[in-house]
Amino acid sequence: MSDTDKLVELLTKKAKLVAMVAPSFPIMFEAGKLVGQLKSIGFQYVVEVAVGAKKTNEQAASILKNNPHTRFITSPCASFVRFMRTKHPDLLHHVAFEIDSPMVATAKIVRQKWPDYKPVFIGPCVVKKLEAIQDHPELNILVLTYRELEDAFKRLGLETPVPNADFDLAEPSTRIYPIDGGLTDTSGARSLLKDEEIRVVSGYKNCEVAVQEFAKDKKIRLLDILFCDGGCVMGPGVRSELPLEGRKGKILKYSGH
Ligand code: SF4
Repeated sequence: MSDTDKLVELLTKKAKLVAMVAPSFPIMFEAGKLVGQLKSIGFQYVVEVAVGAKKTNEQAASILKNNPHTRFITSPCASFVRFMRTKHPDLLHHVAFEIDSPMVATAKIVRQKWPDYKPVFIGPCVVKKLEAIQDHPELNILVLTYRELEDAFKRLGLETPVPNADFDLAEPSTRIYPIDGGLTDTSGARSLLKDEEIRVVSGYKNCEVAVQEFAKDKKIRLLDILFCDGGCVMGPGVRSELPLEGRKGKILKYSGH
């Protein structure tokens, strides 16, 4: 059974569901229309994953503030985490697993606020499916890509226009998260650290060199790293003909930059 099948079955059974929409959604969808569509197919609540990203930021900033000599590699990218587990188990202790990814932080907020509801993450990433199943089975998150959501909309016959609606939980401050450096730029890390203590890296071809540099150069205190070139805006679950700059432009526009 595919994850699209699972979502359609849950919606058909009128299960209690909360949609958690990743901050890269503006590349493919218009906010009010998307929330309206999700509610019309049966989601009771729809929240921005940017809400969880704020928690991610707070955890990262707290580590930097409370441990003046600590140095770490960020953990929100599910593919990068798997790269480290496979290629660099010896350096895994540098990866800050104590910081929740935005998906996990959002699911925890959802579980607390609406305990009987199942969180459904909708985003740009197929590897988040593994993060949900392997790393956080206790949160019972169903993960769909935007492409799969579009397929679900088609199967559910969402052809007629529906009224726009607002997110039930929203967070403007972290809407640039899917652009590389989003964590560094919104967490306050730039005011806590000097420029030479920060590395922002994206693209799977750059990961190996970045990790080696982090291991050797003890001046680097924060390696903010994402596997897709340019960040989650280029994730495989996004259906878009736009190049990187066009995708970034849509995120910046939605976030008010
Ligand atoms: S950078 Fe790519 S692989 Fe990593 S979390 Fe984002 S979409 Fe997934």
